[in-house]
Amino acid sequence: MVHARGVRKHFGKLQVLKGIDLSVERGQVCCLLGPSGSGKSTFLRCINHLEKIDGGRLAVDGDLVGYRRHGTRLHELREKAIAAHRRDIGMVFQRFNLFPHLTAEQNIMEAPVRVAGVSTATARANARRLLDQVGLGGRAGHYPAQLSGGQQQRVAIARALAMKPKLMLFDEPTSALDPELVGDVLDVMRQLAADGMTMVVVTHEIGFAREVGDTAVFMDDGRVVESGDPQKVLVDPEQERTRVFLSKVL
Ligand code: ADP
Ligand code: MG
Repeated sequence: MVHARGVRKHFGKLQVLKGIDLSVERGQVCCLLGPSGSGKSTFLRCINHLEKIDGGRLAVDGDLVGYRRHGTRLHELREKAIAAHRRDIGMVFQRFNLFPHLTAEQNIMEAPVRVAGVSTATARANARRLLDQVGLGGRAGHYPAQLSGGQQQRVAIARALAMKPKLMLFDEPTSALDPELVGDVLDVMRQLAADGMTMVVVTHEIGFAREVGDTAVFMDDGRVVESGDPQKVLVDPEQERTRVFLSKVL
């Protein structure tokens, strides 16, 4: 579903991704860990083309991100085609970014109705089903300010799912939450994984990564330091840098 080979990205003189190799199979969960500034968010943003890569190859579900193959030549996609591709990828951020003036249900209905042309009735029925799925069946009419951080994040997940993505990207989805609210969000993600969603999750929740991750990838300074079975990488890593990082977050 995601195939990265030698992906490079720089901002001015700052080399942020220095050749990332990473693959995520369909239906698998890849957990991405590493110190602040190592390039995790930038890499996620490259996957859904919020950033353009400078080198290497990056493909999602067989399509090169941002390009269309025409015979042997590659053509850069226009903004409209990029937006269409992006719709297949759900993204959940550390900050939930719900529309404050819309209810939970309306937040979830917004993109299907406005972007995908789904009827209001269908979008509402779908939103209700998704709210049930994230354990918020009774909160359809609540505004974000009336919900806890954990509940807002679960609405944000439901909102991303409303576009029926084939891939979900999570960027530290529980980092902004009070500790007692983290579990409910992780439970929703765990269930999503069990239902077969392909997921790339930037997280420092080592327990989650070990239990739910099919692979763990440790990044530092724009490179993949080591990757593989979470039970190995996060329990008995090969690399000293991984060891030092884990001793700090555990
Ligand atoms: P992480 O998510 O692992 O903490 P990021 O991908 O957010 O790391 O950032 C990696 C590096 O790239 C940091 O040094 C950050 O300051 C820099 N960076 C990220 N986005 C931009 C940008 N739009 N312009 C300039 N520098 C950026
Ligand atoms: Mg980040």
